[in-house]
Amino acid sequence: MTGMDQALASLKQYFGYGSFRPGQEGLVSAILGGRDCLGVMPTGAGKSICYQIPATILPGVTIVVSPLVSLMRDQVDGLEDAGIKAGFVNSTQSPDEQAMALAEAAQGRVRILYVAPERLAAPRFLDFARRADIALVAVDEAHCVSQWGQDFRPAYLGIGDFIAQLPDRPTVAAFTATATERVRRDIVAMLDLQDPYLAVTGFDRPNLFFDVVKLETRAKNHWVLSYVKEHGQESGIVYCATRKETEALADELNAAGSAAVAYHGGLGAQERDRAQSAFVNDEVQVVVATNAFGMGIDKSNVRYVIHHNMPESIEAYYQEAGRAGRDGEPARCTLLWNESDIVTRRRLLDMDSGNDRLSGEEAEAVKAGHRHLLNTMIGYCRTTSCLHTYMLSYFGEEVAPSAAAVSPAAAGDGDGPDRGRGCGNCSNCLSTFSTIDVSDLARAISRCVHDVGQRFGSGKVVQVLAGSKSQDLISRGLDRCPSYGSLHGVGVARIRDVLNQMASDGYLAITEGRLPLVQFGPKAAQTVSPDFHYEIKQVRRPKSETSAPGKVYGRTTALAAGDGEPTEEEERLFQDLRRVRTGIAREIGKPPYIVFSDKTLRDMCRRRPTSDEAFLEVSGVGEHKLELYGERFMEAIRDFD
Ligand code: ADP
Repeated sequence: MTGMDQALASLKQYFGYGSFRPGQEGLVSAILGGRDCLGVMPTGAGKSICYQIPATILPGVTIVVSPLVSLMRDQVDGLEDAGIKAGFVNSTQSPDEQAMALAEAAQGRVRILYVAPERLAAPRFLDFARRADIALVAVDEAHCVSQWGQDFRPAYLGIGDFIAQLPDRPTVAAFTATATERVRRDIVAMLDLQDPYLAVTGFDRPNLFFDVVKLETRAKNHWVLSYVKEHGQESGIVYCATRKETEALADELNAAGSAAVAYHGGLGAQERDRAQSAFVNDEVQVVVATNAFGMGIDKSNVRYVIHHNMPESIEAYYQEAGRAGRDGEPARCTLLWNESDIVTRRRLLDMDSGNDRLSGEEAEAVKAGHRHLLNTMIGYCRTTSCLHTYMLSYFGEEVAPSAAAVSPAAAGDGDGPDRGRGCGNCSNCLSTFSTIDVSDLARAISRCVHDVGQRFGSGKVVQVLAGSKSQDLISRGLDRCPSYGSLHGVGVARIRDVLNQMASDGYLAITEGRLPLVQFGPKAAQTVSPDFHYEIKQVRRPKSETSAPGKVYGRTTALAAGDGEPTEEEERLFQDLRRVRTGIAREIGKPPYIVFSDKTLRDMCRRRPTSDEAFLEVSGVGEHKLELYGERFMEAIRDFD
């Protein structure tokens, strides 16, 4: 058997997969041939298999350096479940446990040993490593070696030294999901990779449905509650901007009967662990979290990620949203936003006093950088083009014509020339847009802000324009202002929307403080110019969408042939199989996705295997898992028929 035949056989035997994904084959082949390599692939693309498969074939042990200490146990559990002997050494273990793990590895009893970078310099570890037969050193999250990245880990700088101290230089393979050229060059230099084979795969995640929904702040919670209720069986993450919001929304969800838990940096370590494990073990359906949640979460069956607020950059958004659908099954990433989110973000940025060690000029440069990042995020909220394309071109990727965006100009007017074009897997490609001329409205708003002397908040300004009969307004004499009722009949939601958009575009400014006032922004003078023109965009979403937020449409577009919409019967069987999985997970004390991924259960529903041979045909079932769990699932399938 050639090396690659062996690799394919291993892929089937241990992981139950019939073929390699893009990028994997080249990397596996390079490693088997003893060549260093660098794999740049997005989260969920399958980086781990690139070193795990060679580890099952190469003589000796594979050392995996990973910064994610909290994940190691799960990773080792997953490998053991697949029938591959593995272990780990890190600071969560007592010295005795560490010694034991090393002794096992020294005796050749594990094929893969995970280690935190800090361990590499420990005399005991070095002593082990010098004597062991190390075939491969795989460096996970390799961008941590770069001081240009936000995840820099000083201990990563010691990896090169560690390798240099080994009597026989093993093959070194580095993996990362960070694409920038600078970071890539750093990885090659700092790890001293020798003539590395480079594999960079596309950053698109075709199974993710991207969705942007513009909603007033007060409507957001209702949207989340009804989405979560409709997806009662599915796991999801809701990201909020503040700790307080996470707790309030989690409480609301629980009160509405959806099991939720809050997670943020203000909780104690134990509480955080408890929240995380309740989510990972499918005991609660939703985690409502700040951006403190995520790093170190390897749950593959997250079916949706909802952002309750706009994040500060596309990078942050793609990383957080990308936690959905790691198993390759359809998942949905929804961003709820409105113009006042933008105003808040801008204000936070301006207030940020930054780093004391920076000079005024440097601090201003950093801020300008952040402003640029924020602007590209705002562009994502506002674009009418394909959202997949927007993101990919942001990351510098060429986009195939078939997935190309409908340009904003083409999508501008009229009724839906863009419907059904583009990727078919984002809300923009399924919606129609029209632009509405609101120049008169904008002028009236500007005039009103002037009339009330820039001394009132947006609520009052809107009330004045709409001609509200509120007692408070009248007692302040605002009903005598010239703008009173000048937009009567327009609808307060529309007025508010235009006002907020004017604030985020710089025609107006909202002051800081407990009672923010609407004042003129830097571009205010333009609103009185005769050729002032102002528009807002209106989205018309497909019917199913407005009545039932979050129904996964476009489900079939991105997936391989045969992955159609599940029938009702398949769905019932899927739920039965999930229960079997939950039962097993409880018995063995491991997360359900370690038993089988959602994708594997889906394939099982389609094939309904009742014999060992047929069960092995299911994607994601290897020989060891057939032996461990096959009978329990086949029994459920037989009972179902
Ligand atoms: P990454 O480390 O790149 O984020 P993982 O290694 O965690 O990704 O893989 C993501 C998922 O894809 C896992 O569930 C894994 O089992 C699955 N996977 C990896 N390679 C393949 C393959 N060749 N065929 C099918 N599924 C795969």
